[in-house]
Amino acid sequence: MTETNWAGNIAYATSNIAKPRTVAEVQALVRSARKLRPLGSRHSFNWISDSDDTIVSLKGLERLYRLDRANRTVTVDGGMTYGELAPRLDADGFALANLASLPHISIVGAVSTATHGSQCWASSRPVNSRRTPGPISAGGEFVALHTADSVAEILKELASMRDADVTDVELARAKDQIIKSFPARFATRANVAAQLAELAVFGLPDSYITDYTKKIAAVTKDDVRRVARKYLDPNRLTIVVVGDRKTLAEPLAKLAPVEDRDLDGNPLTSGP
Ligand SMILES: Cc1cc2nc3c(=O)[nH]c(=O)nc-3n(C[C@H](O)[C@H](O)[C@H](O)COP(=O)(O)OP(=O)(O)OC[C@H]3O[C@@H](n4cnc5c(N)ncnc54)[C@H](O)[C@@H]3O)c2cc1C
Repeated sequence: MTETNWAGNIAYATSNIAKPRTVAEVQALVRSARKLRPLGSRHSFNWISDSDDTIVSLKGLERLYRLDRANRTVTVDGGMTYGELAPRLDADGFALANLASLPHISIVGAVSTATHGSQCWASSRPVNSRRTPGPISAGGEFVALHTADSVAEILKELASMRDADVTDVELARAKDQIIKSFPARFATRANVAAQLAELAVFGLPDSYITDYTKKIAAVTKDDVRRVARKYLDPNRLTIVVVGDRKTLAEPLAKLAPVEDRDLDGNPLTSGP
């Protein structure tokens, strides 16, 4: 029988899909297979899980769940799905910061492909900054029903950056994310050109690039609060929401006066 991905648009080159149930069986497979490719819940729309020899699915593996409360980390086995992990974490009083959009997607498959979930109302988006004068923005894509709640959460976060110190974990994660993703800014020739162009446009020294991650690493909680107080002024915020005005206007009006605009930004006086 031809094995395919979940959508059925990719036929795998082999129907040899091994389903080990123990770590020892996985080890034996790794030793014996000429070529081995792990398979998650088959939700990728391409051939990344395919192999012309053996595919291994860890779905049947004994579940591993090890929560480290102090460090707020959890260790799971290679077959665990979000649908299995989320309730267990919930029962222990924890939650994931972000999820894939479907419960049956495997954690490892999602991590391998940087799955980010979609329209997640709790999804976070970094505040974008720029060196030229201009707005600083924060936002995201939300389930329509939770748009006003999401906007309220963002406002709360922005206010808390001014009024209280960010936590050690938040600061460490933010720095980690910026520092570890920095090499990706040089991943292609176009990226390198864009980085060099930035030096030229803003008159920055070459050391801007070489020192960048060191400077990020040196940022303190005080720095965050100082800069947030200087630039994140709640009295000068403009909230832009794109969505169904019929359902969104009322809940949003509880946060701020609502003005309707057309796609070109011109005020609308009436309409759907
Ligand atoms: C209907 C649908 C909706 C989707 N929605 C979203 C969305 O909203 N947001 C989003 O970001 N993505 C979305 N995706 C994409 C999907 O979440 C990703 O493709 C994700 O990788 C799927 O995980 P998986 O478990 O199916 O992994 P697979 O597609 O089976 O595998 C992905 C990769 O992980 C590797 N891998 C799997 N298991 C292991 C393991 N145990 N050890 C080592 N490597 C392993 C595979 O070899 C492969 O390279 C959607 C896909 C579908 C079909």
